[in-house]
Amino acid sequence: MKTSPANIRELLGRAETKLVESGVPNARRNAEWMLCHTLGWSVLDLYMHATDAIDATHIETYWECVERRASREPLQYILGNTEFMSFPFEVQPGVFVPRPETEVLVEHAEARLRGIPLHRELSVLDLCCGSGIIGVSLARRVPNLRVTSVDISRDAVMLTRHNANINGVSTRVRVAKCDALTFMTPRAPCYTAILCNPPYIATGELAALPREVREHEPVAALDGGADGLDFYRRLIPTLAAKLQQGGFVMFEIGDTQGPAVGELLRSAGFGGVEVIQDLSGRDRVVTAREVPLNG
Ligand code: GLN
Repeated sequence: MKTSPANIRELLGRAETKLVESGVPNARRNAEWMLCHTLGWSVLDLYMHATDAIDATHIETYWECVERRASREPLQYILGNTEFMSFPFEVQPGVFVPRPETEVLVEHAEARLRGIPLHRELSVLDLCCGSGIIGVSLARRVPNLRVTSVDISRDAVMLTRHNANINGVSTRVRVAKCDALTFMTPRAPCYTAILCNPPYIATGELAALPREVREHEPVAALDGGADGLDFYRRLIPTLAAKLQQGGFVMFEIGDTQGPAVGELLRSAGFGGVEVIQDLSGRDRVVTAREVPLNG
């Protein structure tokens, strides 16, 4: 910046202009949230102290955030945290950013788990756990639940452990660094539910994603192969052997993938296939239940 801004209002105005010029959606809000983060203030504080001067160190720290956001780094990576199911989660570059759509999966999984008789030990396997949101938030919502979270990325595993800690559920969330398919060996125990938000974007569609996603998020968490279905195709045949009697599976999907993933589940012997929509009415989750061989 050529000249120092006179006060908070002017600093926010300059940040907003820079973010608008860089095509950042919701620029004003982004400018405010990053300044709150820098100062440890609330948005209300910013407006109550709009004409206060601001010291050079804070300006410098804040402007680094603004420049990162102007280069279209996701806001959550800059702030270092987000909320999912109203619970706090840390996020960091290199690990997939939690999406609000995934809350649909958690809500439906919770409702299904609550329908299971209380005397049963409930266990969930969360494959491709990323920052741990699915398993950790379910452990918070369902007190008698034990969770195993698995991810191939070391950063994701460490972040999931940390998020289980800050949410007070680390004694019920076990985290393993492992490829999901390798984890499904015949000797692995059986679970009440297997949940997964795998990479499901078709390779050819990656280039059309927002810059935040395509330039900053790990491609391994997004790329689902030629039609986006690679992961479902490989994983689904291994699931039935790992489910307790009456157990269920639940996948997040892309909005056109419901019929294909449903068919993969039916071919693998699952019943009760259901496609569930997110809040914008798009297909987002597929679920199915284990069908006993003699039933
Ligand atoms: N929903 C994500 C996105 O829009 C993709 C999630 C995934 O591949 N698991 O970028």
